[in-house]
Amino acid sequence: MYQGNYLGEAISKASDGRGDALFLEHGLTGQKITYDEFWAGAEKMAALLVQVGLQPGDRVAVQADKTVAMLELYVGTVLAGGVFLPLNTAYTPAEIEYFLTDAAPRVFVCDPSRFGAMEPIAARAGVTKVLTLAADESGTLITAQETIPAGFVAVPRDADDLAAILYTSGTTGRSKGAMLTHKALASNSETLRDYWQFTRDDVLIHALPIFHTHGLFVATNVTLMAGSSCLFLPGFKADKVIELMPSATALMGVPTFYTRLLDQPVLADVSKGMRLFVSGSAPLLAETHERWSAVTGHAILERYGMTETNMNTSNPYDGERRPGTVGFPLPGVELKICDPSTGEALEQGEIGVIEVRGPNVFAGYWQMPEKTAEELRENGWFITGDLGQIDDDGYVHIVGRGKDLIISGGFNVYPKEIEGVIDDLPGVNESAVIGVPHPDFGEGVVAVVVPEKGASVAAEDVMAGIGDKLAKFKQPKQVVILDELPRNTMGKVQKNVLRDEYAGLLS
Ligand code: AMP
Repeated sequence: MYQGNYLGEAISKASDGRGDALFLEHGLTGQKITYDEFWAGAEKMAALLVQVGLQPGDRVAVQADKTVAMLELYVGTVLAGGVFLPLNTAYTPAEIEYFLTDAAPRVFVCDPSRFGAMEPIAARAGVTKVLTLAADESGTLITAQETIPAGFVAVPRDADDLAAILYTSGTTGRSKGAMLTHKALASNSETLRDYWQFTRDDVLIHALPIFHTHGLFVATNVTLMAGSSCLFLPGFKADKVIELMPSATALMGVPTFYTRLLDQPVLADVSKGMRLFVSGSAPLLAETHERWSAVTGHAILERYGMTETNMNTSNPYDGERRPGTVGFPLPGVELKICDPSTGEALEQGEIGVIEVRGPNVFAGYWQMPEKTAEELRENGWFITGDLGQIDDDGYVHIVGRGKDLIISGGFNVYPKEIEGVIDDLPGVNESAVIGVPHPDFGEGVVAVVVPEKGASVAAEDVMAGIGDKLAKFKQPKQVVILDELPRNTMGKVQKNVLRDEYAGLLS
């Protein structure tokens, strides 16, 4: 189907001729949607977009709760030749103004409750049409979609045309729009489908947000490309996922999904029939991996990716899934560890910046040629900014973000090493190690430590516990005890928030 539209063709191939197969079952309402119904919904969205003036290459920005209609809008945008631009639901109107001004979309879809605030912002940014979509699938997008017949002929798009722009979370400086081509999305999903052995028989629990690469591309495109089905949840709720698990075969999650599911007493029983648990978007503690294996008998498959590159590495489907590592480069993806200052490739085992190259890599940052030139080399290598190491067996380890590296008195301190030692102390649940300004050393190490539920851990206990395990320059100058670490919706610890909070602690 959808000949000539590169991504449309790729994601519809597996369901061509079997349109009455189930694509999605709603985990809360029980509503069932066949492939035919889904494609018809997407075609209507495409026709609607063209009707309101969308031209090939125009952006369609969306800030809305996760619904099936939003998935139809994503696919409809692709079929209409547009560029899908989903925005985190947590963004405030002031933040949305930046994105709309930067990306100048033709169409903007927002929650009806925000229409009043958004309309003038959208008008200033030159948006032609503002439509609404609510969590219950009411709104002007839906009333307009209902008036349109299915049967849209897809707009031709080539491999190198843009299918989406996803803004990076922008924890330092302004958020950048990563331009993703039809080929980047199609090739990566195809690789993952094959590597993780997704087939028509799979039923994926889809509980990730769809404004982010993990839920939008990995979960959705892999389902479509395998012709499998999904159990669709608007958000993650541990008890709901537990309820659905006996009817499912696979789950894709961020590490917090797994730690929360481990608190559910029936996990061992309900997970018996599952085939695959995938984790990514933030580091999965080796301890969580091991606890999960002990309770369920399944080894979580951890993979590593980012907005700009889709997925880069994965632990093997067959073979050892090694805790604390993100596995091997995916087929077709090249990966090397480089010296941060010279860009030269380092010896196996050394720590450096991860660079990747392959069809999965983005085409550059939207309207930021200088930023693009800084991070994407002309020969196609992308400087990820993540620090990593390749062990003797070829498994890639993520050591942290480059910007999280602490330089104290001229020595490099890798937060993950310190965190590992602290996390092993009795009564400690997890920790985050940051660098903050220090009058003598430039930066000094601060450890933020979260005790296990019911345990009491004092700063002195942490210092006493690590005293003989870490060189003096790596030891925290201060230990802060907190009930929990600040995290974003993808489960990433927000070290920038901690750095701001404790900026004055050592000065
Ligand atoms: P995002 O663009 O929001 O998907 O964030 C990408 C970043 O998340 C990467 O550059 C890594 O720093 C981090 N990340 C993703 N997957 C993993 C993983 N499995 N382990 C550690 N960090 C990860």
